Amino acid sequence: MASDNQFSELVNEILSQCDQLAACTGHTGIIHRTFLSQPMLRAHALVEQWMQDAGMTVRKDAMGNIIGRKSSSRKNAPVLLMGSHLDTVPDAGKYDGILGVIMGIALAKLMAERDYPFHFDVIGFSDEEGVRFKMSYLGSLAVAGLFDLKNLEKTDSNGISMAGAIKNFGLNPEEVKQAAYDFSKVAGFIEFHIEQGPVLESENLPLGIVTGLVGQTRGRFTFRGLAAHAGTVPMNLRQDAFMGLSELAMFMEDLTRKNEGLLATVGMVNVKPGGSNVIPGEVYFSIDVRDGDQAVLDRATSEIIAAAQKIANRRNLEMVTENLEHQAVVTCNEPLMQNLQSAVEANGFPVRRLVSGAGHDLAILSKVTPSAMLFLRSPGGISHNPIESVLPQDVEAALKVGLTFLNNFALTP
Ligand SMILES: [Zn+2]
Repeated sequence: MASDNQFSELVNEILSQCDQLAACTGHTGIIHRTFLSQPMLRAHALVEQWMQDAGMTVRKDAMGNIIGRKSSSRKNAPVLLMGSHLDTVPDAGKYDGILGVIMGIALAKLMAERDYPFHFDVIGFSDEEGVRFKMSYLGSLAVAGLFDLKNLEKTDSNGISMAGAIKNFGLNPEEVKQAAYDFSKVAGFIEFHIEQGPVLESENLPLGIVTGLVGQTRGRFTFRGLAAHAGTVPMNLRQDAFMGLSELAMFMEDLTRKNEGLLATVGMVNVKPGGSNVIPGEVYFSIDVRDGDQAVLDRATSEIIAAAQKIANRRNLEMVTENLEHQAVVTCNEPLMQNLQSAVEANGFPVRRLVSGAGHDLAILSKVTPSAMLFLRSPGGISHNPIESVLPQDVEAALKVGLTFLNNFALTP
């Protein structure tokens, strides 16, 4: 059994490793590390060393995922996967994604004393944020066997194709298919991640068990009316596109009041022609609707679109809908959540289940294997920001819970 001393030493090591990875950046002064970039190569060198120090064998797949394995001596042992992403958004914090990879390595270290009945693979996914090729989850899609090879032709802002980027990184784009696991031999996937929101902190809790990821509908809309003089056209004769949007926005807020947990956002508005003395003739805007319950999300989406059409008709506006995208709700695996929950309880922490409002690698892995996720409190609820942080005592709590989880998992038949 690991001592308290060993845990606190590991916590210091984890935080120092996050600092070291933060220095692998493409722009001095900020953290910016994209898919298969030079900074990612430097990050891999560090992660490889740490994985080896933890007694793991290390390999890279053709999509640039780095994978460390703590092997079991058992014949035909299944594999338990744990991982998160090593890429960042521009001007990122130190912990989004990264912490989950580093904690996996620390757990492998804690597992060194025992022979477990499963292989434990820690995966540093090469891309989750989608910054370089404007396509998210490249790493986990390849591991899950869900990557469409056509995407290898996509180019980045410098005109380099994805296949070219893979080659430049010293890997072979023709081997991308082989990055996929044989999921008949995979027992499940777990991801540790900072919450990136304020819920756990507001309840003074170190950890949360994620029940799933919210589903999302997003789209772009235009209301087209008639631009005219703000002083000469009476209110009842106007075709004011912005007033139409205002009414729709209030309808959306009202809908969220009636459905707890439902989130609706108009994040982008472009009013034309944009003069203070001109009635807005056109408004181009985005809508983002999210919920953890697919039925609620579907109903809210159709109510909002119906309301938009009704408002447009009544106000004599033309409505155009573009790029309507739907991302389904992801549900975590109940037995794995139960295991996490008993591990949280066994270590004396309060149990809190919550839904994730952000996307994670788990969204992809959960399509092919039972998956679960543990959140660590985000101080200030802040993420995708250089002041993103994590509390050492929460890292220690997650480490203890992780080890208990793995020990319990070893007992499941
Ligand atoms: Zn992340």
